[in-house]
Amino acid sequence: MKYDVVVVGGRIGGSISSLFASKNDVDVLMIEKRQEIGVPVQCAEGTTHSTFEILEMKPSSRYVCAEVETGTIHAPNETYINAEDLVEFNNLDKNIAKGYILDRKVFDKHLAIESAKAGTDIMVKTTVKDLMKKDGKICGVVAKHMGKTMEIKADVVIAADGVESNMAQMAGLKAPDNPMDICSCAQYELVCSDFDHDRVHLYFGRNIAPGGYAWVFPKEEGTANVGLGIRGPSETAYQYLKKFISKFNATPVELNVGGVPLSGPIDKTYTDGFLVVGDAARQIDPVTGGGTFTTVPCARIAGEVAAEAVKEEDTSAAFLKRYDDAWRVKIEDILKMSLKCRKVADKLTDDEMNALVEFLNNSKGKEISKIAFIKFLGKHPRLLRLVKDLL
Ligand SMILES: Cc1cc2nc3c(=O)[nH]c(=O)nc-3n(C[C@H](O)[C@H](O)[C@H](O)COP(=O)(O)OP(=O)(O)OC[C@H]3O[C@@H](n4cnc5c(N)ncnc54)[C@H](O)[C@@H]3O)c2cc1C
Repeated sequence: MKYDVVVVGGRIGGSISSLFASKNDVDVLMIEKRQEIGVPVQCAEGTTHSTFEILEMKPSSRYVCAEVETGTIHAPNETYINAEDLVEFNNLDKNIAKGYILDRKVFDKHLAIESAKAGTDIMVKTTVKDLMKKDGKICGVVAKHMGKTMEIKADVVIAADGVESNMAQMAGLKAPDNPMDICSCAQYELVCSDFDHDRVHLYFGRNIAPGGYAWVFPKEEGTANVGLGIRGPSETAYQYLKKFISKFNATPVELNVGGVPLSGPIDKTYTDGFLVVGDAARQIDPVTGGGTFTTVPCARIAGEVAAEAVKEEDTSAAFLKRYDDAWRVKIEDILKMSLKCRKVADKLTDDEMNALVEFLNNSKGKEISKIAFIKFLGKHPRLLRLVKDLL
């Protein structure tokens, strides 16, 4: 079997890469190890407006459950600040929480269907076990379907195999993860009449979600994704989640668990005949753990560059570097800044988080001058030392 482009992984990174490669008239095969694309959901399902702009798609009620207007940040001492009360300051944007809550089971499958309509062949319940190499260049994959092993040749392989990716490691592009860079998450979809319909809530505190945060993302009327991510402690994310949801009079209809890589992107996302995208490339926001709005542009570029390389008959690393250059122009600065913020947030005490929320509350509706912020930091010298590089 031979294809121009083989894509490993069939969720958001894989379907978008294969869609944009197929749109550019090359032969594409997408391989997904699960028997159904889009399940299990490992996502709180929030995304930005830019997702649909980049895909050149209209958001449809088939896979958009809710439109979020704003958000609330809850400090460890239960005080809170609403995003709409903030005036833009430094990198804080009061529109930061605007976006959609998707139904990713439907959305991911819809993207795969669009990709198939554009010409992509899809194999489900098929696991890629190895990369084929010739003279050091990647030239295909070894896959297993229902006990049968097959070799599939390809001019370009795109690895979109998610957080547990071993393709990037096999291609020599990634070292094993530092466990402190992986956030363990657990989430319930809960039914409860008290959830806001157009507001996300984020909860911080060492007792709530050490090394991460808890979230409430509204879905359809009366349901929400309620979950959290943690790093470090001996208790599991599920144990923290059980404690957290006890505050709601709610009942679950779904439980999901998963890992989120918060290390920032890998150093190199291409080699001869090979590209890596999405969580596999760690193209994920290290503070929020949001990976859809970052994966979407990268996957589109990966598909387009792979098709161009095939048509130019040059699938060398030197050609495929175009992908690495192009996605870094779009999102690398955001991810680098976010990683710096995550490293500061890792060191914040609950008292310092409480003080920050109090400061923002005292500045409600007012322009926050740098002088006012520095005066506030003057009363918190440790905090000043931590955040000075971000200013
Ligand atoms: C609990 C949780 C909540 C999250 N919430 C949000 C959120 O609200 N907003 C947001 O933007 N992001 C969120 N994220 C992150 C987001 O889900 C990911 O960044 C995004 O799904 C990455 O897409 P991907 O296609 O790169 O990888 P994945 O979605 O992980 O897809 C990888 C696919 O590859 C397949 N695969 C793996 N190995 C192989 C193989 N060897 N052969 C064949 N197939 C293979 C897998 O089965 C899977 O279908 C969350 C993550 C978690 C865990």
